[in-house]
Amino acid sequence: MPKMVILGTASFIPDETHENAHMLLQGEQGSVLIDSGSNPLVSLKKARLPADQLRTVIVTHFHPDHMSGMPNLLMGLWLMGRTQPLNILGLNVTLDKIHALMNLFEWRDWPGFYPVTFEPVQSFGGSTILEMPDLRIQMSPAHHLVPSIALKVTAQPSGKTLVYSSDTSPSDAVEQLARGADILVHEVAGAASGHSSPSMAGSIARQAGVGQLALIHYHTFLNPEDLIVEARSTYYGPITVLRDLDVIEL
Ligand SMILES: [Zn+2]
Ligand SMILES: [Zn+2]
Repeated sequence: MPKMVILGTASFIPDETHENAHMLLQGEQGSVLIDSGSNPLVSLKKARLPADQLRTVIVTHFHPDHMSGMPNLLMGLWLMGRTQPLNILGLNVTLDKIHALMNLFEWRDWPGFYPVTFEPVQSFGGSTILEMPDLRIQMSPAHHLVPSIALKVTAQPSGKTLVYSSDTSPSDAVEQLARGADILVHEVAGAASGHSSPSMAGSIARQAGVGQLALIHYHTFLNPEDLIVEARSTYYGPITVLRDLDVIEL
């Protein structure tokens, strides 16, 4: 059965018990990392997940809390002896910047480096960006300070659906992507431009008619109960505040 392992839940500033928001989707034929803000190799170790099953990395957008661990991830996998290819998915603008960042490290000169491919995703809503035997991933543009994508995961054989908002202010496209989903994982970094408060996330969850709302990308100094109380003012279904290393069975 596929599952999503939450590797980090913090917004911009991580702490001892909360890494920056990122997660791993584990399917029967390999795993997919979504974002890489902290050092994902440390997160995988904490979650007791093997790094060699990693097939694809999806980068939602080019902000440090979502992708600054990428150089360490790529280098670490190489030094661990990886030979199999790794595919990196994201918007063109995101991939171009990651490529430029890696070029600063002169990574093409690293001897025996495994093949890394960059695969730009379409930027229109609902397009499928990855198909695996038991996992399908679709995307829609989110509404953020830089181009960002929300993701929808459909798992087989359960047919269960999970939508991850990534960083976004309340967005019609994200709401459409989440319509009827079993779980909406929504950011709650606050009502500042490009982000959402818990009550805004609750409104999206209610409008989309999702089965449950899980809050992520929150300020770690806030009381989780307060986040739930605020989200409950606009959404009446089950609400949880995700913790690092939580597992969502799909
Ligand atoms: Zn961001
Ligand atoms: Zn962020």
